[in-house]
Amino acid sequence: MLALDVATLREGTARLDRHIAPDAMTREQDYRVLAPVVLEATVSRSRARVGIAGQATTTLELFCSRCLEGFAVPVTSTFDLSYLPSDEAPVGSVEVEVADQDINTAYYQHGQIDLTELIHEQLYLVLPMKPLCKDDCQGLCPVCGANRNSTPCTCEASWTDPRLAGLKALLNENDDA
Ligand SMILES: [Zn+2]
Ligand SMILES: [Zn+2]
Repeated sequence: MLALDVATLREGTARLDRHIAPDAMTREQDYRVLAPVVLEATVSRSRARVGIAGQATTTLELFCSRCLEGFAVPVTSTFDLSYLPSDEAPVGSVEVEVADQDINTAYYQHGQIDLTELIHEQLYLVLPMKPLCKDDCQGLCPVCGANRNSTPCTCEASWTDPRLAGLKALLNENDDA
């Protein structure tokens, strides 16, 4: 983990500019970091409170929700966060706190702010819900599983939606009546 040691920060404001190699980023399930993460931020400390504001820019590999292929997307996430030591976290049941929590306030433990985690959390916020490799991605053929973008198949002609098949059967019954 790439940590920011709060004890080394002076009171006041300082630059926090880092280039973080993709290898230094932990693996996430939903994406892969392809390019160095450029973190350009301002860090301000006031006693135990640490503010980190700025942006993280990188290129991610996402996986298309239709054809499942990986594709590269440049992303920039802008944030303005406030960190407090974990012993200042509000006391109470976890479920209640999560709902009430200010999403811009986080807590750090052992005097360390985990920058890798900060970046991952901010990247997640800018990811599309259903990533698409291209707007008109043809997806996978539901019959043979071929990627229709690269492998044309002839399944469509003979394939009928099971729901439609049921409807047709119903209509046929009515015809007979
Ligand atoms: Zn796709
Ligand atoms: Zn097919």
